[in-house]
Formats: sequence, C-alpha cells, structure tokens
Amino acid sequence: MLARIQELGVTLAPRLIEIRRHIHSHPELSGQEHQTAAYVAGVLAFCGIRATEGVGKTGVIGELKGSSNESRWLAIRTDMDALPIQERTNLEFASKNQGVMHACGHDIHTTVGLGTAMILSQLEEKLSGHVRFLFQPAEEIAQGARWMIADGVMKDVEAILGLHVFPTIPGGSVGIRHGALTAAADDLELIVMGESGHGARPHEAIDAIWIASQIITTLQQAISRTQNPLRPVVLTIGQISGGRASNVIADRVKLSGTVRSLHPETHEKLPAWIEQIVASVCQTYGAKYELNYKRGVPGVQNDPKLTQLLEAAALEALGRSQVQILPEPSLGAEDFSMYLEHAPGTMFRLGVGLKDQPNYPLHHPQFEVDESAIITGVVTLAYATWQYWKQN
Ligand SMILES: [Zn+2]
Ligand SMILES: [Zn+2]
Repeated sequence: MLARIQELGVTLAPRLIEIRRHIHSHPELSGQEHQTAAYVAGVLAFCGIRATEGVGKTGVIGELKGSSNESRWLAIRTDMDALPIQERTNLEFASKNQGVMHACGHDIHTTVGLGTAMILSQLEEKLSGHVRFLFQPAEEIAQGARWMIADGVMKDVEAILGLHVFPTIPGGSVGIRHGALTAAADDLELIVMGESGHGARPHEAIDAIWIASQIITTLQQAISRTQNPLRPVVLTIGQISGGRASNVIADRVKLSGTVRSLHPETHEKLPAWIEQIVASVCQTYGAKYELNYKRGVPGVQNDPKLTQLLEAAALEALGRSQVQILPEPSLGAEDFSMYLEHAPGTMFRLGVGLKDQPNYPLHHPQFEVDESAIITGVVTLAYATWQYWKQN
C-alpha cells in the first residue's frame, strides 16, 4: 500500500503545486476565507468527495466513507487563513491581494489536506473507517477551531491528525514531537488607575506610570522566584500606553500582553497568581486596577499512541534520515488544541526549509517554502491514515 500511495503522490505532484500556487496568490484573512472555501469545496467535489461549505462560518469539511458500517471517523485538520502582511517575495505567484499574505504556510496545509483526500479517494482497496477532512478558517485569531467544533465536526471522531510547516526543518523531512508541542496562550489587559498631579509634586499624586512599571518588574521577577523553573511561563507585555504631558503625572496606564505556559496545572493557576501580584502592588501604592484575563487556547498535547503510529508511518514512508524527533516544545500557540478536548490527536511539523537560500521565519513578508514538502506531507498523512484504520 505504501508503494501505491507514493506512486499516487508522484503523479499528483504537479497538480498539487498548481493548487498551492492558486491558493497562495489569493490569500484571505481570518474569517473571510470565502473564495478559498469555494475553491477547496470545488476540488473535493471534483475528486468525488462529499464537501460541505459554511461549516464553522467559512470552513469546509470533506467526508470520505470507508467500508465500515459503523460511524467511526478519523479527522485530518488543516487551516486556510492568511495574514495581514504585504508580501515581499519575488515569486511569480505572489499574493494578488494587497496587504494579505500566506506567510504562515496555511496554503501548504490546505493543499496537503486536499492531496491526502485525493490519494485516499483513489485507493483501490477502501479504508475500513471514515475520514473527515477539516478545512478550518481563522486559525490566526484562534477562533476557527471553536467555530468548527460548535458546528459538530468532532461528532464520532475518535482521533485527529494535524500539521504545521516549519522553516528550520528541511523540505522532505518531518518533525515528530512526543508530548507537549505548543503552549497555552492567554491574553492579559490591565488598566492601572492612579491620581493625576504636577510632575514636581509626586507626593500629592498617585503615579500610574511608575506603578505600572513596578507591576511589570514584579511579575517578571516573580516568574523566576515563585514559578517552578521546570514548568516555563513567558509573560510579554507588548503594549503600554498612558500619560499626556512630560510634566503631568499620569492617572491611567493601559497594558496588554500575552501569557504562555506549558504545564496544564501552571496554566490553571496563572490568572489568580497574576491578579494577586497586580493587587498587592496597586494596594501598596494606593492605585486601583481593572484586570481582564482572557483564556486563549490550551497547549497541544500529542497523544502517545497516535504519535507513535505517526512516527512509524513517517519512518517507513520517508526513511530514518527524514524524520526528526523534536526534543523541545514551542511556546507558540495553535488552536488545534481545541479539538484535543474532544478526541486524542497528534500534530507534526512539516519541514519546508529551502536549500542554499535564506529561510525566513513564519509571519515574515519574505517567507518562502520548499514546495516538495507538499508530497512529503501528503504521503505521510495518507499512509498514517491507512495504518490507523488497519490497526483500529
Ligand atoms: Zn501563524
Ligand atoms: Zn500557522
């Protein structure tokens, strides 16, 4: 079966590159993936796969039935949205949409999803179980998975697979991670309220700028002194604003930031821990505050059994030298984790690094990929799916 999947991969490669370039030239922002969705549904229908649009707002699902009479599904999730970035590559198929770019490789993900569907639909011997392809919108704003789940895409799904491109892994290779892959990411908004006054008479005022700076410093120090160093927490205040004149003490400062953590127990305790620090600093210096702590997405925890299965499939399909076992997780976030609240799953990294060319990071206006990675992704996913239904 592996030889057949590889042969189909080679045959489909030119068509898949065409599809990828079309999607790359026509990027759409999160929640606005109308044309991409229609295009994806069109390709699925052409391959004889039942496609439904308007799932999770602008998402699409494709359903491929196996031979089983039971309603048992394996899901394969890819995402379709682009970023508000002006593309600065010199590719002939660069973005035609001003200020919008596929700089996170979701064009590759969507194409890999379609290619996997094409291969699995063309196998002479049917899969025993069913496969649901989730083409998710709005991953970049961490909303799409929620929308898809609310529309029932996880119904009867017993396992889910996903992938994300990675420029530091060479094209043709994949990265497998056992355990935690990405971090939980929450958002923080804080308003510190003091009392205005003359810049020369601080004792008659409550200086919100100085108190805000104390809060930032205390939080950073407290991470290193009160959090378990083996369970990392990263807190970044990315925005701060307040004050109106150089000689007027500010009465109001607004801060916002992101809070990343890997361990579920740490994640659970973070809001109360942060509030305690904010409250104690404010109380010490007489300020008031408003803290809005927003839970974002949990971390991606790869399921041990499915990761093992994926690793074995990748080793057989690609060879030992093309399979990296990733020693560390990332503190990036990924809303694939939302699906994992409904079924076990695993997400791998698809190498897209180019040879003899600079590799720009994800979300960079010059981000480019090695397109041969599409076939690597398709063969890995198709074979892992085959193996899943053979073994389960
Ligand atoms: Zn991204
Ligand atoms: Zn991404």
